Amino acid sequence: MDQLTIGSHISSSKGYEAMGKTAVYMGADTFAFFTRNPRGGKAKEIKPEDVEKYKKIAKEYQFGKIVAHAPYTMNACAAKEDLREFAKNTMRDDLERMEYIPGNYYNFHPGSHVGQGAAVGIEKIAEILNAVLKPEWDTTVLLETMAGKGTEVGRSFEELREIIDRVDCREKLGVCLDTCHVWDGGYDIVHDLDGVVQEFDQVIGLGYLKAVHLNDSMNPMGSHKDRHAKIGEGQIGLEALSAVTRHPALRHLPFVLETPNDVDGWAAEIRVLREHFV
Ligand code: FE
Ligand code: FE
Ligand code: ZN
Repeated sequence: MDQLTIGSHISSSKGYEAMGKTAVYMGADTFAFFTRNPRGGKAKEIKPEDVEKYKKIAKEYQFGKIVAHAPYTMNACAAKEDLREFAKNTMRDDLERMEYIPGNYYNFHPGSHVGQGAAVGIEKIAEILNAVLKPEWDTTVLLETMAGKGTEVGRSFEELREIIDRVDCREKLGVCLDTCHVWDGGYDIVHDLDGVVQEFDQVIGLGYLKAVHLNDSMNPMGSHKDRHAKIGEGQIGLEALSAVTRHPALRHLPFVLETPNDVDGWAAEIRVLREHFV
């Protein structure tokens, strides 16, 4: 059975069952959602009945692993201690809540070192992961590859490797590759996808690669801008993005669209990418 597992970001404001229904409506069999308001704040209460209804849908439609997204204000390597404390508490609370839907992924932006330097950022991110990750938790935490905008940490495979190397509970750690971000970070997935995959394998190890954010980019390779475009409307293009979904080392992964779209726009992108998946 070789099928493309693909979906998009879905609003979590109406709960799990509603997300499952939206995914089915879009022809998706995975999706991403923010665990709380992307700008932070308190998470909504989880209703076990709602989760049960969601699980029925996920089973009936054979969903793959879903990819929760941490709020992007969370900065695990902030210079201020109270901000790092907030990141740690948010991640811990989110992972406790993920236990309602065990066996899935929780993706986060490693952080911005805000002038402290990448080396200090890497240490601080690993410190928080070591404080939070527990072997008994049934969620794998994914570091997202970043575009390198501002002082973002995780702009290269090497930086992610350095974080992973400092974490004890590595079996609960993985990487989510964002196509817009790696392109903006200077990895040529248009002309040398094989080379980029090989480099990922050499530096990090393909065993860590658990999910892909599939986005086109408004900007040229190496621009470090992080502006997502619709599939086929950016500088990466439909052919190259479709080749990412078909790559032998990637095709089994869950793919999540974070393109500027509404539900029907994502449904159309999913349809096109499924047609190209041969
Ligand atoms: Fe992200
Ligand atoms: Fe992303
Ligand atoms: Zn982005």
